[in-house]
Amino acid sequence: MSQPTTQPEKPQAKEQVIQLYQGAKRIHPKMAKGRFANLRIFMIIATQLFFYGMPWLMWHGRQAVWFDIPGRHFYIFSLVLEPADLLYLTGLLVISAFGLFWWTTIAGRLWCGYSCPQTVYTEIMLWIDHLVEGDRNKRLKLDKEPWNARKIRIKAIKYLLIFIVCAWTGISFVGWFVPIREFVPAVFNGTASGVALGTAIFYGFVTWLFGHIMRQQVCFYMCPYARFQSAMFDHDTLIISYDAERGEPRGARKKNAVPKEGEKPLGDCINCTACVQVCPTGIDIRDGLQYQCIGCAACIDACDEIMDKMGYQRGLIRYTTEAVFKKEYTDADIKKRLLRPKVVGYGGVLLVAIVGLLVGIATRQTMQIDVIKDRGVMVRENKGMLENAYNLSISNASENTQIVTATVSGFDDIRLTGLPENGISVKGGDIVKVPVQVATQPEYADKGSHPILFTFKYREEGQPEDKAREIKEKAIFIGE
Ligand code: SF4
Ligand code: SF4
Repeated sequence: MSQPTTQPEKPQAKEQVIQLYQGAKRIHPKMAKGRFANLRIFMIIATQLFFYGMPWLMWHGRQAVWFDIPGRHFYIFSLVLEPADLLYLTGLLVISAFGLFWWTTIAGRLWCGYSCPQTVYTEIMLWIDHLVEGDRNKRLKLDKEPWNARKIRIKAIKYLLIFIVCAWTGISFVGWFVPIREFVPAVFNGTASGVALGTAIFYGFVTWLFGHIMRQQVCFYMCPYARFQSAMFDHDTLIISYDAERGEPRGARKKNAVPKEGEKPLGDCINCTACVQVCPTGIDIRDGLQYQCIGCAACIDACDEIMDKMGYQRGLIRYTTEAVFKKEYTDADIKKRLLRPKVVGYGGVLLVAIVGLLVGIATRQTMQIDVIKDRGVMVRENKGMLENAYNLSISNASENTQIVTATVSGFDDIRLTGLPENGISVKGGDIVKVPVQVATQPEYADKGSHPILFTFKYREEGQPEDKAREIKEKAIFIGE
C-alpha cells in the first residue's frame, strides 16, 4: 500500500512593511570652533548686515537701494533702472550664474557652506538653540525630558527669539521693495498695506519653516543647485575630504599611546566621532564624498582640534582634490591647477559679461523720449494752419531733475505748441506725458504722410544750455 505523499509546506512569506515616508531625524550638531567656524561667523555677519542694513541706507534723500515695483523703477544708488532696462537685469542673472559655475568649479560648495541663505538662517537658528538650550548634549537631554515648567520656559524663550529674528527678516525683505522708514512705523501702528504686511509675514514664515523646521531637508530634497553642481566638479575641484589612507585603520587610543609588540599600528583617526557630532547634516565624512555634505567645514575644525590634542598633524579632514588622493599631485600643487581650461573658460565668459554690463550701464541713455501720434485727433485746421496732435512720453531714468526743450522740422514753416518755452522739468525717476501740437501751412502738407523730425535737448537742472544733450525722434505728419 502506497503511503499518501505529503507536500512539503511552503514557507510563509514574512510580512514586510515598506515605509514610503520616513520623518526626518532632528539633528543637534555640536558647535564647531576653529578657523572655518570663524570664517562662517564672519560671512553670516557680513551677509546679514547687508540684508538687514541696506534698506536703511539713504542716498540723495531717498532709500539707496529700492526696488519700487508699483512705480516700475529700481533705484540702486545713482542708478535708476526702468522696465526698458530689463536687459541689465538679465545681464546680472547671467553674471550670477557664471559666477556660481566658475566658483563651484574652483572651490566646490563654498557658496553652500558660507553664504547660501538656507545655511545662514539654519546657522542663526542653531545659534539660538545653542544660546538658550545649551550645546548638543544638553539639547538632546532636554528633548528627551518630559514637559515640565523648566522645559516650557526654555522653549518659550527660544521660540520668542526665533519669532523676533523671523519677523525682522520678513520686515527687512519687504524693506527692499517699499520705503522701510515708512513701512516699519506702519507695521507697529497698524497702517501697513495688506500686500506688504502679508509678504513680510510669508517671508518670515518661510524663514522659520526652512531655517528652523526643515533645515538640512531643504538642501537634500528641494535645492536644485545641490543636484546639478556635480556637473561643474572636476577632479581638481576643492572638496572636503577625509584622508582615509592616513586615518585608517581607525581606533580609539590615549595620547602618546604606542602600539604593543605585534599589534598593527593604527591610523590617525581615533574614532572620536567629533566630526560627525558637529555635522549639521548628520553625515559621516569618513564614508566618502556625499551629496548631503554642504561644505561647511565644521568637521575640519572638529578634527583639527582633536589632531592638536593628540599631537598629530592637522588636515586628516581637509580641503583637497580628488587628484591629490589619486596621487596625481600634492596638496601644495593645488593652486597651480587653478588655470585649467574649464576655469579659464567660465572666467572668460564671466569677465566679458561683467565688462559688457558695466559698459552698457555707463553708456546707457538716461533720457528716453517717445513721440506717439494721437490717433484720436485727426488732422484739423487751426487759425488757417493744418495741425496734428502728438503725445510725448518723457522718461527720466537719471536721479536728477532734467529740463527738456523741443523743436520740430520737416516743412519750411512748421510750429510746435504745447511745451513751455523754457522747457519742461522732469524729476529724476519720473515719466511725464505731454500732449503737443505741430502745425504747418496747408500748402506744405498735401494729402498723405509727411516725415517730420523732433529734436529734444535735455540738461540737468541748473546746468548751462551748452551742456544739453540731444535726442532726435522721427514722426509722421498727416496732410489734408
Ligand atoms: S574627528 Fe577626526 S579623529 Fe575624530 S573621528 Fe573624525 S576623523 Fe576621526
Ligand atoms: S561632512 Fe560636510 S556638511 Fe558635514 S560637517 Fe563636514 S563639511 Fe559640513
